[in-house]
Amino acid sequence: MAKDRYIHYNKPKKILIIGAGIGGLYCAYMLGMKGFDVTLLEERKQEELGYPWHDAVNKDTFKHADLVLPRDVCIPKQVLDFMGPTGDGHIKQADKMSKSLDVDRKKLANTLSTLASVYAKVIYETKVDELIIKENCVVGVKAGSKSYFADLIIDSSGIKSKFKDQTPIHFLMRDSFTDDDCMFAYRTFIKKTSDEEQPSKVYIMPYGIRGISWCKDAPDSNYSDVFVGKISSLSTDTIHAEIDAIKEKHPYLTDEKLFEIKDTIPLHYPLGMIIGDGYAVIGNSACMPRPTNGSGIETTLIAAKILVKVITENKSYLAENLWDYEYDYMKEIGKDLYFNYLLRIFLQEISNEDLEWIFTSGIINENLVSIANKEWKKVNDFKLSDITTSYDLFKSRKDLIDKLEVAIRRAIEGRLLVGKLPRKYDYTAILKWKEDYDLFVVQTKQIAKDVMSK
Ligand SMILES: Cc1cc2nc3c(=O)[nH]c(=O)nc-3n(C[C@H](O)[C@H](O)[C@H](O)COP(=O)(O)OP(=O)(O)OC[C@H]3O[C@@H](n4cnc5c(N)ncnc54)[C@H](O)[C@@H]3O)c2cc1C
Repeated sequence: MAKDRYIHYNKPKKILIIGAGIGGLYCAYMLGMKGFDVTLLEERKQEELGYPWHDAVNKDTFKHADLVLPRDVCIPKQVLDFMGPTGDGHIKQADKMSKSLDVDRKKLANTLSTLASVYAKVIYETKVDELIIKENCVVGVKAGSKSYFADLIIDSSGIKSKFKDQTPIHFLMRDSFTDDDCMFAYRTFIKKTSDEEQPSKVYIMPYGIRGISWCKDAPDSNYSDVFVGKISSLSTDTIHAEIDAIKEKHPYLTDEKLFEIKDTIPLHYPLGMIIGDGYAVIGNSACMPRPTNGSGIETTLIAAKILVKVITENKSYLAENLWDYEYDYMKEIGKDLYFNYLLRIFLQEISNEDLEWIFTSGIINENLVSIANKEWKKVNDFKLSDITTSYDLFKSRKDLIDKLEVAIRRAIEGRLLVGKLPRKYDYTAILKWKEDYDLFVVQTKQIAKDVMSK
């Protein structure tokens, strides 16, 4: 019986991790330190992990994850200016500065991979091809000609994970993805004519194409960090056109590039099921980044900490034992990610003129910012006056304010639906919840189309 493998109480449990992403490395380090027999298989070379730039994280991210990093891994967050589609209206991010840090992605990856390799077997340049499934349990993986068996397989293989589709159908993990659920990203460092400090600007939906771009100073260098991200697709022509437009707005940029990297960020709502018998999913492969503004490092580390706790508290890794990972993750963070996703469905349908008005009218007040910053007490008491307290603004664009109200109310309803996830593992109840969870998105897409096109 495949399930007999859970009864070897005397031996340390074997954990196999696919992918040296943030969640995979963190789990390898933490579980290895707690005495588990951990093996991590990574397709790339160790020196290829991470990215040669800084990314934003909440300042408490690493403290919450009990990670002590070398001092130079994080630096203070840059102040960004958010610009509307024409580049006229703008919202300054100054108030967020104290809440965030910029983290050096190479140094973070190096630190985590070093910590992981002290406590776990980290094997680089080894691509996992498929899961091994026995009697409906995931029991191992095949990588080339080798098979690796374990009590639990953690899938941390990123957005292109093909493993969820290999799981038994009753795991409820074979969710279909479209390119609309992805942001295709291009990032480069472009040399400046001098090392003089320049303003850092983020362009929302430039030229009406769904996505964002930015040009900000790269820390401690005479380069600018330039990003082009588009939903659905990103052609070479679009990249060239957008870089030319950015150069016009930032004339100090030269033609010299330090590197060019393309990658994909998931914008799908969080996967409804992240556990099955002998299998758990984490990070981008479970769509953990916030569907409006990223934050995949923070959300993945929060999930990883929950997963480590659940693994440590259990001796067997059947779905019912792993259920607390799913439940606590959804309660702690999944419902906020779902809320964000539902809101994004509406924002994606907004016209350029309306978006421009939002940027230029001054409608974005403290209440809206606190909703965006997840101050949920305020969200649950949401009133129309939370959108605007200005009677003049309200009167001038009542049509648009009504639409925003529908969007926020729908997103709050979705958040409450996530809260109905069964507390105890009960497959029939979970099946029903998962159906409702997916259907709510389909219905919201239709509502958003109808409401925003009025
Ligand atoms: C341009 C860009 C900007 C971003 N900005 C931010 C930001 O500002 N803040 C933030 O918090 N997050 C940001 N993110 C998101 C963040 O990087 C991720 O959400 C986070 O790192 C979690 O990713 P992951 O570890 O799940 O996946 P990944 O980092 O993709 O790791 C997956 C790993 O699995 C390996 N792998 C894949 N398949 C196999 C296989 N078959 N066998 C073996 N190994 C395999 C891959 O080689 C890779 O190392 C950004 C991402 C990008 C691309």
